[in-house]
Amino acid sequence: MEVTARVRLLRHTGDPERAVALAAKLCYSAVGIDKLSEKIEKGEVREFLKRLLEMRHLSPFEHASFTFGVEGISRVTSHQLVRHRIASYSQQSQRYVKKTGGLEYVIPPSIAGNGVLKAQYGRVMAELQDTYRQFAEAGIAAEDARYVLPNAAETKMVVTMNARELRHFFQQRCCTRAQWEIRKMAELMLERVREVAPTLFADCGPLCVSGFCPEGDMSCGRVTSKSGKGEKPHARIKARRSKHPITRE
Ligand SMILES: Cc1cc2nc3c(=O)[nH]c(=O)nc-3n(C[C@H](O)[C@H](O)[C@H](O)COP(=O)(O)OP(=O)(O)OC[C@H]3O[C@@H](n4cnc5c(N)ncnc54)[C@H](O)[C@@H]3O)c2cc1C
Repeated sequence: MEVTARVRLLRHTGDPERAVALAAKLCYSAVGIDKLSEKIEKGEVREFLKRLLEMRHLSPFEHASFTFGVEGISRVTSHQLVRHRIASYSQQSQRYVKKTGGLEYVIPPSIAGNGVLKAQYGRVMAELQDTYRQFAEAGIAAEDARYVLPNAAETKMVVTMNARELRHFFQQRCCTRAQWEIRKMAELMLERVREVAPTLFADCGPLCVSGFCPEGDMSCGRVTSKSGKGEKPHARIKARRSKHPITRE
């Protein structure tokens, strides 16, 4: 069965923006923690966070953590996700959870949009599912039967990241250079955290949101210059890009 990404924000640090502001204010204040806590007004929290962002003083952002429940993503995407090291992960095990009840899988839009290829894709998934089931019936343990499962196989994860790592994650994974599936997941995560901490994540997204693109020749062209002036893609760069397309995982 075909599935798509679903993201829930399971929990987060209580009053996350205040937690960050308090930690930061401590750095610059002579008073103790009790007094400091009393002194911070709501409007002040917002202003304080904006100043921290301007100064790129980001370590206080590590005091706010966010835990997501993610389902309906492929093993392709979970593999890309766990490359982000400043995070905690739990993933549904293919050793302990048998997939004999039916294989859930993700279809890339490029294939889903082509009726013939989509049908072929479905047949391959059904065949892999059937082989997995036959192996399981022959007594092969799930940990070995799973070797026939595809990259497309659905997985579920619980992911915890602090606000600093999330900001970095959104810069990389909301970018059009990131693959469509992790980008979609990152965008859903960004939507969820903005609901509870709008100031912490107000300016988040690909780096070009703030007018700077580090991708050079691999830039999508929305912002091409490192200075971030947003010039149109240079003809030479465009020509080189189409002559030597570079795809990255
Ligand atoms: C568009 C795109 C294409 C990619 N293509 C490839 C590819 O072809 N092949 C491939 O292998 N990977 C690829 N990746 C994955 C990429 O190389 C990173 O592993 C991944 O994006 C995690 O980012 P990160 O290392 O910056 O940060 P995280 O692991 O999220 O860590 C955050 C930051 O902490 C610091 N940090 C973390 N760990 C260390 C450490 N051990 N030492 C020093 N500083 C550390 C760094 O400043 C880092 O930026 C790609 C990623 C993207 C977004």
